[in-house]
This record gives sequence, structure tokens and C-alpha cells, in this order.
Amino acid sequence: MEKSIGMPVRYLTGVGPNRARIFARIGIQTIEDLFYYFPRRYEDRRQFLNISQLSEGQEQTVKATVLAVNYRRSWKRKGFSIFEAIVGDPSGKISCVWFNQPYLKDYFKPEASVILFGRIQRYKGRLQINSPEFEFFSQGKDDLLSANRIVPVYSLPAGMTQRQIRRIIKDSLEEFLPRVKDFLPYDIRSKNNLLNLAQSLSNIHFPQNSELCKNSHQRLSFEEFFIFQIALALRKLEKKQKIGIPHKAEQGLMESFIASLPFKLTFSQKRVIDEIKKDLIKPQPMQRLLQGDVGCGKTVVALAVSLSVIQGHYQVAMMVPTEILAKQHYDKTLSFIKPMSFEGKRISVKLLTSSISTQEKKRVYRQISEGQVDLVIGTHALLEEALKFKKLGLVVIDEQHKFGVGQRALLPKKGANPDVLIMTATPIPRTLAITLYGDLDFSVISELLPGRLPVEVFHFFEFEAKKAYALAREQLEQGRQAYVIYPVIEESPAMELPGAKKIYAQLKKNELKGFRVGLIHSKVKNKEQESAMAKFRKGQLDVLVATTVLEVGIDVPNATCMIIEHAERFGLAQLHQLRGRIGRGQDRSFCILLSDPKSKEAKARISAMLKTNDGFRIAEEDLMLRGPGEFFGRRQHGLCELKVIDPLRQLELLKKTREEALKLVSADPHLAARQNTLLKGKVFQRFVCTLSQED
Ligand code: ADP
Ligand code: MG
Repeated sequence: MEKSIGMPVRYLTGVGPNRARIFARIGIQTIEDLFYYFPRRYEDRRQFLNISQLSEGQEQTVKATVLAVNYRRSWKRKGFSIFEAIVGDPSGKISCVWFNQPYLKDYFKPEASVILFGRIQRYKGRLQINSPEFEFFSQGKDDLLSANRIVPVYSLPAGMTQRQIRRIIKDSLEEFLPRVKDFLPYDIRSKNNLLNLAQSLSNIHFPQNSELCKNSHQRLSFEEFFIFQIALALRKLEKKQKIGIPHKAEQGLMESFIASLPFKLTFSQKRVIDEIKKDLIKPQPMQRLLQGDVGCGKTVVALAVSLSVIQGHYQVAMMVPTEILAKQHYDKTLSFIKPMSFEGKRISVKLLTSSISTQEKKRVYRQISEGQVDLVIGTHALLEEALKFKKLGLVVIDEQHKFGVGQRALLPKKGANPDVLIMTATPIPRTLAITLYGDLDFSVISELLPGRLPVEVFHFFEFEAKKAYALAREQLEQGRQAYVIYPVIEESPAMELPGAKKIYAQLKKNELKGFRVGLIHSKVKNKEQESAMAKFRKGQLDVLVATTVLEVGIDVPNATCMIIEHAERFGLAQLHQLRGRIGRGQDRSFCILLSDPKSKEAKARISAMLKTNDGFRIAEEDLMLRGPGEFFGRRQHGLCELKVIDPLRQLELLKKTREEALKLVSADPHLAARQNTLLKGKVFQRFVCTLSQED
């Protein structure tokens, strides 16, 4: 067999079945995987200090000679041993100690020259290094891996040391780099001043200098985004060629629905409905992302366009992430649609969640497959194999960030290229949206609903909790309702917080005495959750104590107050989502963040909440604070490969790769040109999963 970097790692010298298993555990199968296992950070160990120059608390490197060694077992603790080496240079001596590594006595021989790296500490008045990394050297031999260079530091799989993994990677690079072919076309590389692949891989692991290290990062980031952008461009192209359903543009149902609403649609809502309708009429399947802050009225938009699809005798499926939300949408939809009829029949709406009985489920399945159901609203339960549609025309996915790419792609497969509308209340900053979801079209609802007042946000420290609850009581006494949000359900020693359950009990006895208080969290049975929600909605509960199950879509206009306990434990997007649960009526509403934030990030999140109500600005801030990986949750957009890059700092790079990718794909839509052959292979190798999932 010809050697190539696609070979399993066990072909490497130094990697037997045991180590191959260790690598497999962290997702490294092939030599290429190993090459793309980049260091977590680097340590610059080119600067040696004299022992007399070492300073306590610093991580430093010394070059010294072994003067004496001492190995002893502890007589107090069985199996415990200490190995000590005293090393020295002309300026002084220092002691190095290792615990439970008896084999070191075979390495450290007096007179040997060694480079040591570690944190300098003081023990019984003298400087000492605990468990330093070390590397022996002899004059003239310069392939030191752990010293005298910029040294890579890897995230270690259990069962391997830094020295071992460095050695394996170094040896494999030496053997296989000459076989690495660069799949980036030459002109793209030269135009963008990119290192070639072999050079980059070599320098990202063992940088010759800082400049090359930086450039190799640049190149590998570019490549990562470029491949992703190519995949997106191909996907978009493919979609354009697909034949979907050209819905009819008949007037009627939708218009009478809109006319029957107890309010007038905002300008944004009307514009978005138009955008969607244009898509529906076209023969290509729609793939549209509708963004809009919580409570801006996306659901109504989705319902309106659903009706126009139903009028054309197609079915609509609406998938939402939680049962509570499904039920709420269902109730609301019924209340809107009940009085309407169509060709002499009622419009049939069904609810499908995992908690309905098997019998009922079977019946609904049958009705859906026979085409008796026009609109089905449900949770993941909609994805079940056994559910078949007669004529699925439109798929609506609400709160898309709660579903993975795979799940999102499954529902449309139940029809013949139906139109897809994805809705999200987590606004994505525009620049990132086009670069990361480049295969979708976008609509944005940007206005607050008429008459809505922005939520007023306050920050109180923990010691001011009484004040916060007094404010809540004031609201409650006026007949308003309130939420108390708590980050954890049960007491957990690790979090050092009492749980929501305990707080609930305490609040009932103290701060909220005399009010009707309910509790919901993810461990409460769905039935109970639902009944608590229903009671709250009907005004039979004054206060709802909840964990983040409340995050999505709950809509109770009479709730005007929210206290978020330990607000520092929530992410910014989460806080913003939570705040969106109030301010849904015409009255002033208050969101109180109770928190003693300690870290810089926690403080920044709180101050962002105080500063703005605008979801897009919150999103930008969130992105800055967390970085895009966290922001999106990697798996959602298929960017599982993004290891090197921080797209925020490299936004420019991101844009550039997009431009280049679009240019390349429009010039060579099948990547058939000779200079693109390797690239094509790479794109399919990396994105075959998402490409095939989404089509
Ligand atoms: P979203 O899904 O964007 O979070 P919803 O569609 O749930 O928002 O709308 C929030 C609330 O506002 C609902 O009670 C809805 O009936 C109401 N609503 C929607 N559009 C309007 C409008 N144009 N004017 C007044 N109220 C509206
Ligand atoms: Mg909604």
C-alpha cells in the first residue's frame, strides 16, 4: 500500500494498538487527523535564565546540570514516592521534585545536561520547581522537542503525556509531510499570501519562529473557512436546481385571517409576509431564516403564510422545541382559526407531542397521512418515522437554535421539497449571518409591537434581594404576575447554590407569602409543567418560579415582573431571551437581575443587559464575549471542524474566503477543473455529512 496521510495512525512508529485506541477516543483516526490536532497553546522556551534570575510564581526555563538525585518512598503514605533532582549552573542551584514517578531515577544521572520548564515555587524558604517538564540534551543535537524552542502544548487525551504526543506528531510530520499535497489552488494561495500546506502544518506544531507560527494559523484558518464557504456555495447552487412546490397565490384565507386579528400587523410583519409569499410561489423550495426579537410577532406571520399554503390544499408542519410551547402555539392558533372555515369545512389543526397517548397518536398519524389535517403543531415527535404526510407543503421550525442541523433537515424530508421557514429569536449579527448561513435567505422583523414599552432593567446585588421582592410584590398587589428565574433545580454542592425547589419553598414562606406560587423546571413531569403553565396563563397563579424551561416563547401579557436570581450564571443571549418573556402587554414591566458578578465577563453581560433592549446589539455583544463557537453551538451549522479560528477577530478573513469561494464556484460549479480536483475531494471529505443531510 502506498503511504498517505489518510492511513490510520497505527501505521506510525511509536503508535501501537494501545495508543491508537487513545487517539481514537479524541477523534483521531488517521494521520491527517493527527496533523489537524493543533496545539492548544505554545510556550516560548527559547529564553533560558540563569538560576539566580528565576523568580517565584513565573513559568520559566532553565538550562542546568544534574548535581545530585534523591529518591524516597513515603513511610506515611503507602505507594507515595518523591523523586528529587538538584540541578545547578554557575549562578546557583535549584531543587526539582516529582511525585510518584519512580522511573525518573533511571533518567536523571549526575552530570547530565538538562533543560527544565515549569512554575517556580518557594518551599521551606528555597526555590523549587514541581514536576517540571524536561529534556536532556547533548551538544550538537538540536532536535529538542520540549525545550529551546517554541513548544506546542496539546490538550492531552487520558493516558498520554505532552512529551509523548509531541514526539509522535514530530515523527509523523517528518515522515509524511513530503506526501502532503496542497489542495488550495495555487492562484488563491498566492493572491492571499498564504503559506503552503506542508509548511503550515509543520509550523503550527513546531514553529520555527513567531512569524511563521502566525502565518500558519492564518493559512489554516483560511483553508477551514474556505472549504466551508465552498460547501455552502455548492449547497445553495444545488438548492436552486431543485424543484419544489409552486404554491398558488390565491387570495382568501390568509387575508381573512389577517382581517380577523384583534390587532393590525406591523409594517415589518407585512413586509416579511410578502417576502415569504414570493418564495412560496416560486418553484424552487424556500429556505428562509426569519429573525426577530422575542415577542415581535413571528408566530402570527408563520400562521398567516401557513393559511395561504393550506388554501392551496397543502399541509403545514410547525415544529417547536418544547411541549409547553407546542401547546401554547396550538391553543393560540385554535383561538385565531376556530371561526374560520374553508370550502365548507373547518380548518383542521392538530397537536403532536410525545406525551399524547399512543392511541391518539395513531389516530392523528392516520388523519395526517390521509390529508385530513391541515396544520400540525408539535415537538420532535413530528420527526418520528411512522408519521407520513399526504401533501406536505410548508415546514416551519421555530426557535431553530434549539435544534441541530440534522433534526432541522429531517422534517422537510417528509415531503417532496416543501418550503422551509426557520424562525429564530436569537438574532445573528448580519456579517456572521451571511457568512455562516450563506445558503439561506433572510427576513428580519425589526420593530417593537405598537404600544409596547421596552422592559426596564435593574441590577441589584444579593444583599438588596429584599428590595427586589418588594418591587415584585408591588406589581403583584396590582393584579400583575411575576416570574422568578433560578439557574439550578436541585441543590448541588459543586454550584454552591440552593436549588429552585428550595427557593420555591422559602419564597412561599417569606417574600411571597400570601401569593399563589407555582414551580416548573425540566424535571417536573410534562403534565405538571403544563398545568402550572396553564394556571399561570389563566391568572390562577401569581408567581411562577422556573428554571430556563421558561426561556422560549412563553407569552403571558399580564406578567410584568421578572426576578432573575444569580443572573451571573446565565449567558447574555439567555438573559435577553428571559427578559423577552415580560413586556408583552401594554404596561410597564421590570426585569431585575439579582447578582454579585465576579468575573469580567459576568459584569459585561449585566451591563449589556442594562444598556440595550435591542436583540441585534445583544447578539453582537454576546459574540464578542463568547466567541462564535459558543455563540452558535458548533454542531448546528456543521462547523464541526472549526478548530483554529476565532471568526470574530478574523471577520475580514471570513469575508474574503466567502468572496473567493463564490467566485470559484460560479466559475466552476462542479469543481471539475483540474486545479480544483484536490479541493473538491477535501470539501466532500469534510462536509459530506452536512451536505447530504441538508439536501
Ligand atoms: P414571537 O413568536 O416573535 O416571539 P409572537 O408571535 O408570539 O412573537 O407574538 C407575541 C404576542 O404579540 C402574541 O400574543 C401575538 O398575538 C401578539 N402580536 C403579534 N403581532 C402583533 C401586532 N402586530 N400587534 C399587536 N400584537 C401582536
Ligand atoms: Mg415565537
